[in-house]
Amino acid sequence: MKINFESLPWPLRQAFVLGLGVRNRIVRYRGEFHRTLDFVEYSEDWYPERQREWQHKRLLQLAESAREGCRHYREAFEHIDFLEMKNASLYDSLAMLPLLGKAALKEDLDAFLNQSIRRYSESSTSGSTGMPTRVEHDLASIQRRFAFQADHIRHAGGAGILEPSVRLSGRLVAPPGRKVAKPWVYNAAEQQLFVSSYHLDDDHAWAICRRVEHLQPRVIDGYPSAILQLVRLLSRSPKTLSSLKAIVTTAETLQGEVKDELQLKTKAPVLDYYSASEGLPLVQQCRAGVYHVRWQSGILEVLTPDGVSDEGDGEIVATSFVQDRTPLIRYRTGDLVSGLKQQELATCTCGLTTPTVEGVVGRVEDLIYTPDGRALGMFTYRTLKYVDGLRESQVIQREYDRFQLRAVLVPGFDEATVSQAVKNSFERVLGYNIRLDTEIVEILPKGPNGKVSLVMSHVARKREKPITVTYGKSSTAVCEGDDG
Ligand SMILES: [Zn+2]
Repeated sequence: MKINFESLPWPLRQAFVLGLGVRNRIVRYRGEFHRTLDFVEYSEDWYPERQREWQHKRLLQLAESAREGCRHYREAFEHIDFLEMKNASLYDSLAMLPLLGKAALKEDLDAFLNQSIRRYSESSTSGSTGMPTRVEHDLASIQRRFAFQADHIRHAGGAGILEPSVRLSGRLVAPPGRKVAKPWVYNAAEQQLFVSSYHLDDDHAWAICRRVEHLQPRVIDGYPSAILQLVRLLSRSPKTLSSLKAIVTTAETLQGEVKDELQLKTKAPVLDYYSASEGLPLVQQCRAGVYHVRWQSGILEVLTPDGVSDEGDGEIVATSFVQDRTPLIRYRTGDLVSGLKQQELATCTCGLTTPTVEGVVGRVEDLIYTPDGRALGMFTYRTLKYVDGLRESQVIQREYDRFQLRAVLVPGFDEATVSQAVKNSFERVLGYNIRLDTEIVEILPKGPNGKVSLVMSHVARKREKPITVTYGKSSTAVCEGDDG
């Protein structure tokens, strides 16, 4: 019989989390953790040319070790001339390597495992649709990943990774839908309080406020939708947040209005980052609001309507320098970014000179379909960013011409005006008239993985012919239905 973690008695859950925390504390913050932090600091002021030279070398190493160690890459790289790669520029040598789709990784993980690198653990991503993606990790790669996290928190708010923090994710730490005395578990080894994002309501507000006040967290970290709910609860007793140095968000698209409210209520900077438990390169937002691609952790390209490019809008194609056990080389992540740029010499006000992106704006599967066979990506990003009065929103496509908008409004805006503005904006992008039902809510409903999806379509996807995906202003691309 399978027993769910959240239905165990609280002391048992607590003991389990502490045990895990002690083990993590021992293994995560040593060896490669320190080497990576040292290298990141040492290479911080390298010029782009030197960065690319280093990445090029690292790419060749990675490709060679993957070809030696993994069945998949042995076949995929069989005819690749590594000498030619070495003599080409970084992006030309990347272009010699094939793209890797999620479907291939899901079908046969074993083929991607580097047999000469020892397995330490396994993780799977909480995909919003379909099968989760599993990967295996080695210890050095885990330490490297935590080094980049530590670097982000330090950059973000000057806090250390082991200082007290509150974490909110989709993880079930207490039984949802039940009133409980302690909707959290505490990992004393890493000073992390895991608060259940399913209990952020009036019934539990008092208990959560007291517990957080006792912890005096320096950092709150997790899904922006859940952090917003927590911060609204905590701001009833303002002392609880006086120790806070930064809010770190990830995993959902951070909406501008949400960020503003969080900063206003806590007076702490809100810094988003993008990565994934597969072990992808990190994209970290600095205090100036710029998303920096941490080039020491890997290379980002985008799959645009005109093919793969090192600049522009589209699906992230990632080559990871963080992951050794399951090498990810030119991996199609399914996540969409806007405005990838290779920064040349202009340094950001935060002091970093790196490639940048304007933002991570959704998932490839967050598509809206039209009767003439188009599939529109980045739909809410493109249609809602100019509509005033929306604090948070979720769009559901019921039929080609019938949409539902769930919205949290900014006080002072009325439903009719906002709804009309959204309808106009949708129709302009779609090119035909629609019906829009607007539902005003206090909180957007979470999906089964605890995340809030910005776009859902219930219109059947036509599989007979390749789907035409439109991302940005530019024309169209043909993209085989990768199930993402
Ligand atoms: Zn910056």
